[in-house]
Amino acid sequence: MDDCFVFCDELGPAKIVHVYEPKSGLKGTLVVDNVALGPALGGMRMGTDVTTRECFRLARAMSLKNAAAGLAHGGGKSVIQADPNCPIEKKEQIIRAMASALRDVNDYIFAPDMGTDERCMAWINDETERVVGLPRELGGIPLDEIGATAWGLKHATETAIEFCHFELSGARVVIQGFGNVGKNVARFLNRSGVVVVAVADIDGAVVNANGLNVPDLMELASEGKSVSVYPDGEKLVNRNLIDVPCDIWIPAAQPDVITKENVNRLKAELVVPGANIAVTPEAEEILHEKGVLCLPDFIVNSGGVICAAMEHAGACESAVFPVIEEKVTSNTRHVIEASMSKGILLRAAAEKMAVERIKKGMSYKRWSVF
Ligand code: NAD
Repeated sequence: MDDCFVFCDELGPAKIVHVYEPKSGLKGTLVVDNVALGPALGGMRMGTDVTTRECFRLARAMSLKNAAAGLAHGGGKSVIQADPNCPIEKKEQIIRAMASALRDVNDYIFAPDMGTDERCMAWINDETERVVGLPRELGGIPLDEIGATAWGLKHATETAIEFCHFELSGARVVIQGFGNVGKNVARFLNRSGVVVVAVADIDGAVVNANGLNVPDLMELASEGKSVSVYPDGEKLVNRNLIDVPCDIWIPAAQPDVITKENVNRLKAELVVPGANIAVTPEAEEILHEKGVLCLPDFIVNSGGVICAAMEHAGACESAVFPVIEEKVTSNTRHVIEASMSKGILLRAAAEKMAVERIKKGMSYKRWSVF
């Protein structure tokens, strides 16, 4: 019994639901963290290594992200413990089973995440209509295809550079992960004159201090090939890329890739996390002391959820990019300036802003504790 409440604090989580269905083999967890600002909106992740703890941390990150972005949504996350590359019939069966099992949890809205995509959301839509990130044919805005999160990362980068000691044009960027977020941020930043010096995916990494050709890398990705087969660069066995000298480091793959154990190897002046919880709190503190700007993940990678919330509210695709730009730019600037003026961590400044909004929302509730 005690274990169920191990994560509780003043904000949540409101509920944790475990789902097991022997027929499909479904093992899933939903964490609805906080719903003071509206129904929880957060992705459904599929992976063999997902855990309840990770699900809770990701759900909390969504509460903060949605509040900081000024969305009328609380935070939640769902995870399915299974191989996302399993046969497609199996994947459909598992995902439909999860959606069906959570049909009555009406304060959670499904969205895509690692291991799930628009097709998965279409299956969920067939089981329960509380879902965003649908294919265009079903009225969705394909946030991964258009690069919604990457668009926010580009604007966060451009804003943060005003506080750094290098120019945008000619700046060197390392990107870990070359999926929906990684490849699109490479595309957007490259167009702004940034030089992509190293990229990695699950199968390997490639580095070239003179710059990699982004359209060629994008073509490899569209053919389903690893960036490690890119010919004009040195192949690296270590996909972490933490040792590669650069100005900007963008994690766009997994959680916990910069930790207190490896943080001193990082050679960048600016870290812009596309991935959620990619930098541990201890590593963020060390970076802060060293004068490295490590932007809070939930401030800079909110483009996807802003897009999802706009889809939910019935907005059209062309309205999305200007809103992401405005929200991410102003929040990035606010957090950097608040951190500098108050001498606090960037994350502390960001959390203060988000938590104040959540507590204000909670104060309007019948069950208010604030
Ligand atoms: P994706 O599945 O499209 O891409 C993930 C990429 O990371 C792939 O290229 C994969 O090969 C690579 N990768 C996986 N493990 C790796 C490892 N150990 N080393 C190096 N590369 C590795 O996922 P995505 O949608 O691009 O999301 C990436 C990250 O960004 C995730 O943490 C996700 O939660 C976060 N995020 C995504 C969005 C979004 O809009 N898609 C929004 C916010 C946050």
